[in-house]
Amino acid sequence: MINCHSASRLISKSREYPLPLLKRFSLFIHLKACDACHNFLRHVEIFSRVAKNPEDSNQDIDEAMKMRILNHLRHHQNTPPNHL
Ligand SMILES: [Zn+2]
Repeated sequence: MINCHSASRLISKSREYPLPLLKRFSLFIHLKACDACHNFLRHVEIFSRVAKNPEDSNQDIDEAMKMRILNHLRHHQNTPPNHL
């Protein structure tokens, strides 16, 4: 299974272009097993909505949520590949 670092990279890339089927499947499996990345995906979706439509954003996102996303990324960038 892919690790959290790969999963969060795939999540970010999936916002830019459609992922190849195998990567999408790997990500899907990871998201089923990992609440942290599942939350990260949700936050990325909120972020991209904010980026597209700043006016309708502020009810969904606050500073605490931004910090959680950043902490998640920092934490998972330092995670050894086989922790799952
Ligand atoms: Zn994960």
